[in-house]
Amino acid sequence: MNNITLAPVQTDQPSHLMPVFGRQPISFVRGQGAHLYTADGTEYLDALTGIAVCGLGHSHPAITAAIAEQAATLIHTSNLFEVPWQTAAAQKLAEVAGMEEVFFSNSGAESNEGAIKIARKFGHMQGVATPKIIVADHSFHGRTMATLSATGNKKVQEGFGPLVEGFIRVPFGDIEAIEEAAIHHPDIVAILVEPIQGEGGVNTAPQGFSYLEEIRRICNQHNWLMMLDEVQTGNGRTGKYFAYQHTNIVPDVLTTAKGLGNGFPIGAVMTQGRGVGVLTAGNHGSTYSGTALGSRVVYTVIDTIQKENLVENAANMGAYLVEQFTEQLSEQNVTVRGFGLMVGIELPKACGELVNIARDEHHLIINVTAGSVIRLLPTLNINKKQADILIERIVKMVKNFLA
Ligand SMILES: *Cc1c(COP(=O)(O)O)cnc(C)c1O
Repeated sequence: MNNITLAPVQTDQPSHLMPVFGRQPISFVRGQGAHLYTADGTEYLDALTGIAVCGLGHSHPAITAAIAEQAATLIHTSNLFEVPWQTAAAQKLAEVAGMEEVFFSNSGAESNEGAIKIARKFGHMQGVATPKIIVADHSFHGRTMATLSATGNKKVQEGFGPLVEGFIRVPFGDIEAIEEAAIHHPDIVAILVEPIQGEGGVNTAPQGFSYLEEIRRICNQHNWLMMLDEVQTGNGRTGKYFAYQHTNIVPDVLTTAKGLGNGFPIGAVMTQGRGVGVLTAGNHGSTYSGTALGSRVVYTVIDTIQKENLVENAANMGAYLVEQFTEQLSEQNVTVRGFGLMVGIELPKACGELVNIARDEHHLIINVTAGSVIRLLPTLNINKKQADILIERIVKMVKNFLA
């Protein structure tokens, strides 16, 4: 550790950063497993993990070694050449995702851009001149122009019109609204939804995952692409490798990012079934698509999730958290929702300040989404002892807050 610079020297110069983020008044200089540390060495339990990103925990030795070795060997050559790590990562990812084709992108939004392009091209191949995609209320798909247009949140869109056209919005979980849309819009070519809405408040549809089965049926009936945004729910987070695997159906297009790189920025858009073969040479690309470095990280993340049985651990620990929160907060008028280690505790009132209270009084890093939902996204390898500490701190805090 002696030769490692943990943070640059602080200055009191004005910041040159665009002020687009509402930041908390704290910074971390080191992470280890489920914990983060400030410069003075104070330890925080991390139940946010960089927003569902660092599933393997901070400074996991396998990821550190993969990055260090590959950085010292070969980082990037471009896709004008074969990239052996990219081929290997795609094979591993396709296997766990149940998909056939993989395109590596650099973020969640970019993965969804790829899905939107696939849907449009799929439409044009069938002579649909103005292909449309059904999207849901309260969804979040990213911050690029097409993905913010697909997003079901006015705040994300405000100030950025004209929006990208070609999206038809329906209430999340409303199958009749989809069937109604099909009658009025003969140019629909695809549906894009999240299996569990993360930013929207850790919500499944009211009918649960059977919503996805219904969507599959409708997509088959109309020859539409079924596209799932698993940017947040993928990579073991919900106690299955991908959340759709809680069902018996398979989507045609699947996107992911966040946990795919454990902090290294990389995402993927994948296809099977009628999504295969839509994008061909010259249709899509990215300078950084599947660099040797990024691909080796993906390969190592998947390999580690498998070797350490982290999907199983996420399912078990997640079930334990939900059971304990439900029991210990039974008199608090809260709703506990959980799928693996994607856990939401909905409070009867707005609770944004709990982020600060958790951090300052309980040394716990959490997130509050949709105004009144505590969202917990701990490391996939969280152990029972750490889970018990998390439960104890959350229960105490929520009881105080609602007292
Ligand atoms: C975070 C997220 C995105 C956007 O991913 P970025 O990497 O921030 O572009 C898209 N969809 C869902 C469901 C997300 O949770």
